[in-house]
Amino acid sequence: MSEPVFSSILGHDAIVGRLQRTLSQDRPGHAWLFHGPEGVGKRTTALAWIQSLFCQQPVTLPAGLSGCGACLACGKCAEGNHPDLQRLELLEKKSRIAIDQVRELTRFIAFTPLESSWKAAIVDDAALMNDAAANALLKTLEEPPSGSLLILITNRPGALLPTIRSRCQQERFQPLESPVIETLLTRLTPKLSPEQRGEAARLATGSIGAAVRLGDSGGLELRQRFFRDLDALPDRSLAELVESAREWGEAERFSSVPELLETWFRERIRDSVLHGQSREVEAERWLETASRLVRLAREARIFNLNARLTLEAIFIRLARMRGVAY
Ligand SMILES: [Zn+2]
Repeated sequence: MSEPVFSSILGHDAIVGRLQRTLSQDRPGHAWLFHGPEGVGKRTTALAWIQSLFCQQPVTLPAGLSGCGACLACGKCAEGNHPDLQRLELLEKKSRIAIDQVRELTRFIAFTPLESSWKAAIVDDAALMNDAAANALLKTLEEPPSGSLLILITNRPGALLPTIRSRCQQERFQPLESPVIETLLTRLTPKLSPEQRGEAARLATGSIGAAVRLGDSGGLELRQRFFRDLDALPDRSLAELVESAREWGEAERFSSVPELLETWFRERIRDSVLHGQSREVEAERWLETASRLVRLAREARIFNLNARLTLEAIFIRLARMRGVAY
């Protein structure tokens, strides 16, 4: 049985409320920027909003209108084949969104809608547009066609042109609380045991996307292996380190590496401070390194960079921090 599309979005009540009110007032605006950490529900929220805009039988929830989740229009949006919705994403094996993709999108959005009274488009991740693509999109943002709704999504709003940011209404998404992640996991990965869900939620650093990946790949076991490999780095030869980077760089495993790395840093920094092994200055240095290396791993995942080489660099840095001279 399907439920109203906004009912399935948890943890972003204020944002969802604002979006629902734009529907009740029939004023969704033309250009929005949804930003915030990876995997917290920005794209799902954008889609639910567009479904609600296109829905043939919208329902009224306490905060405002919502797509019904059951009509033909809601279904077409969910399946990605509504003729008035286009999603612009990174093409396979590319590291940037190109100007041709943006030109196609701006042409699309200028046409008269076929089945709804709006044309809508989602650009995800908007920070992956190269400069030419971003400038092409800017023209549309400056003079949006009437009846058009464009939603840009990114976890790196600072990487967008300031002129693009300033032309969008912005919503900042926050990391999800662990209980929210556990609830979402019961729907998304019903096969996991409550213990596995709890573990995945704890490791996921506020991201439901990360929690699902961790659950799928056996979160607890994966974490134990990753932690064991990282803890053993100072005792490894360079050849063993390179081999370890190759293993963790394999696509399926690497998808969970940024969160695992973040959790590993968090626990090790906490342990060293608790056990007095580290002065505050030392902890500061680790925090700074942690944020840089986790960012490196995330960017490798976002930009489809070479995961093995990225991990080699990260592992070597970690080994050196602990006194190994390669
Ligand atoms: Zn509907």
